[in-house]
Amino acid sequence: MEKSQNYYDVVVIGAGPAGAVASTILSKKGYRVLVLEKQHFPRFSIGESLLPQCMEILESAGMLKAVIEAGFQYKNGAAFATNEKYDFFDFRQKFSAGWGTTYQVQRAQFDKVLANCAEENGAEIRYGHSVASYKDIGDRVQLDVINENSESETYQVEAKFVLDASGFGRVLPKLLNLEKESSLSPRVSLFTHIKDGITHPEYDRNKILISVCPDNNQIWYWLIPFSNGRASVGVILPRDIYDNNSVGDNAADNKELLLKYISKATMMHGYLKEAEFDTEIRKLDGYSCDVTSLYGDKFALLGNAGEFLDPVFSSGVTIALKSADLATQALHKKLQGEVVDWEVEYSQPLKQGVGVFKTFVQGWYDGSLQDVIFTEDKSLKIKEMISSVLAGYAWDTKNPYVKDPNRLKILAELCQS
Ligand code: FAD
Repeated sequence: MEKSQNYYDVVVIGAGPAGAVASTILSKKGYRVLVLEKQHFPRFSIGESLLPQCMEILESAGMLKAVIEAGFQYKNGAAFATNEKYDFFDFRQKFSAGWGTTYQVQRAQFDKVLANCAEENGAEIRYGHSVASYKDIGDRVQLDVINENSESETYQVEAKFVLDASGFGRVLPKLLNLEKESSLSPRVSLFTHIKDGITHPEYDRNKILISVCPDNNQIWYWLIPFSNGRASVGVILPRDIYDNNSVGDNAADNKELLLKYISKATMMHGYLKEAEFDTEIRKLDGYSCDVTSLYGDKFALLGNAGEFLDPVFSSGVTIALKSADLATQALHKKLQGEVVDWEVEYSQPLKQGVGVFKTFVQGWYDGSLQDVIFTEDKSLKIKEMISSVLAGYAWDTKNPYVKDPNRLKILAELCQS
């Protein structure tokens, strides 16, 4: 193959948040970067509530200005409700230094803004091109790519290194047999966008609202407002409950099920009394996933292509951006000819924060974190430490709940006594 034509320093699979941030950072450093994206942007994606930790990464990648100018919904915290109880975490009151506010975003628009940044900084993005195979050919990697406009024609690109940011496409985990079952139980999510019509004076549009189902604390809902009078709503159900409730698993049944469960959440249901459910209901089943390794000799897995936990603390995009940040630092060193220990420089640091989120997710579903959240007389100091993690600062090991997330259990026991 003629090296100059389809030969790149780095090929990035997927132009979602992880891929766009990674390709922006690398292009800015002067590398020749090709992004292969299966879909055409703007396209729908779930994952709309950001955490303040994202802002720091977007800022250091030089992408924050474009995000701010896009006019997304301001967000300063997370509110939690059961039928009887309500409390919120204001992310500006937190243990860790750094941003305390962020945005709730329509991902179609947000991902396009980020992908445009990557292009403006020199990355080449080919939309409608999907990666179908991966071959290590010695000093580089060869990928087969399908261009949707000429399906008969698969072409090859080559690169020194591949970053897989293909999200739930999980291209390299599938091609290289890296898939591993998540330790989290399988759950189903039903969600949609609505014209929210909320006029209730007590509703705080600057926070995501997480509501727990009154008769089953394994079921919860989100209400994520956007800046244009619309909102994202969804319910998370254990898979067996979904299977027992869903008659035909079609759009009409799923809509009925979503509305049935929303009607149980008194506060959220009250807010949505004028809402118009004018958009199709989507379903995602068994979204938690993991891999046996986050890297290989000539590749690394970013964002959801690596591990995905659970949506409850809106950590997905934060982890995707953190993975892009860490992987590009390691890759820059490698491309400069330095020896990189991907375990020490990428996998371990990424997993440290992911592990904190995982402990919080497990604590949510075993009920201990719900006890902490809904306890009335929380110490302000401890609330600020929990607030920091909920704001995405899961890599700040100065925070005792990051250094040792199992402290959550002890705290929950104190709250229960
Ligand atoms: P993605 O954003 O999925 O991007 C991957 C891209 O790769 C896609 O554009 C896709 O088209 C492309 N691709 C796939 N296959 C190929 C291929 N073969 N070739 C080329 N391109 C390919 N996170 C939050 O931060 N906040 C939330 O509120 C939140 N809510 C969620 C709710 C639910 C129900 C779920 C399931 C997840 C939620 N998440 C949330 C998680 C969030 O959606 C993801 O973590 C985030 O989108 C991951 O970003 P990414 O860049 O890794 O992948």
